Amino acid sequence: MGFLSKDVAIDLGTANTIIYVKGRGIVLREPSVVAIDRYTGKVVAVGEDANKMIGRTPENIIAVRPMKDGVIADFDITQSMIRQFIKKAQVTSVLKPRMIVCIPSGITEVERNAVEDAVIQAGAKEVGLIEEPMAAAMGAGLPVNKATGSMVVDIGGGTTEVAVISLGGIVSSRSIRIAGDALDSAIVSYLKKNIGINVGDKMAEEIKLAIGSAFEDNEEGVFDVRGRDMSTGLPKTVQVHEAQIREAIQENINEMIESIKTTLEHTPPELAADVMERGIVLTGGGALIKGLDRLITDITKIPAHVAEYPLDCVAVGTGKALDNIREYIGKR
Ligand code: ADP
Ligand code: MG
Repeated sequence: MGFLSKDVAIDLGTANTIIYVKGRGIVLREPSVVAIDRYTGKVVAVGEDANKMIGRTPENIIAVRPMKDGVIADFDITQSMIRQFIKKAQVTSVLKPRMIVCIPSGITEVERNAVEDAVIQAGAKEVGLIEEPMAAAMGAGLPVNKATGSMVVDIGGGTTEVAVISLGGIVSSRSIRIAGDALDSAIVSYLKKNIGINVGDKMAEEIKLAIGSAFEDNEEGVFDVRGRDMSTGLPKTVQVHEAQIREAIQENINEMIESIKTTLEHTPPELAADVMERGIVLTGGGALIKGLDRLITDITKIPAHVAEYPLDCVAVGTGKALDNIREYIGKR
């Protein structure tokens, strides 16, 4: 740990938390998961350690994702998670750093205060907040301060955030609670209903990462799904095809695209014209769904591109905001 403290950026995502230090880059990347002792209510581990404990410890240890739906489910747990991540990243020292935290845009004033308190308690001198779409756009390298319309679609675990940005501000935006987690749930339901096999969320996510797709192409994958046969109750392995998973997630994907369309409809015509010309940038882990960019382009007739490191955009964008940290501290 250095004596000189550097300003710190935190992407507090619904699925992953990333900590970035000015001049050093990303220093921590952990799932936003907390392991809790069901009887004492105590936090026993956070992040990857918490994930590892699940299923390998007595049943009284349960996993919680406190930010799951883009809102804070439990203040104490969330605060404890934030504090432990900051401690683990070893970014505080005698000279306290200033920090900017990126939060899901759906969280309330009270929840924002809880996040700020946690960060101060963890050793920050001052804390600023930045909205997720703005950070995502900055991280993706969009010209957010120019007098031109830029559209970013950030698909995380809990929420999809769509925004048009111009002159440093969000001109129009939508946030829906349909993102990566919803796709996993849709896969669970589909397999139950159409194949008669029960799988957990983790398996569903594995399937999504392996063969999830939004647009048909000529390289279609298959995946051996391990689950429980609903009629016999016994474990079973079934081969599932990419086209089936596409069908499973289709409705959710359509809702994401619908939110892109409504955001554009609420965008002033000049800025909407900029977006038509300059295209849409996709960020967040959900942007990696195979063929999603093509489907969006196909339906909206606007070219869509996945950002270079979609999972890092928000953290990197929040890191860029550190250059003008005054603008974010006490801004509200
Ligand atoms: P958040 O910002 O909400 O923490 P992230 O941007 O970290 O979320 O994205 C996490 C989501 O992205 C998860 O739902 C995860 O399953 C999904 N994801 C990650 N990689 C891929 C991939 N290659 N294909 C499809 N989905 C992915
Ligand atoms: Mg995110």
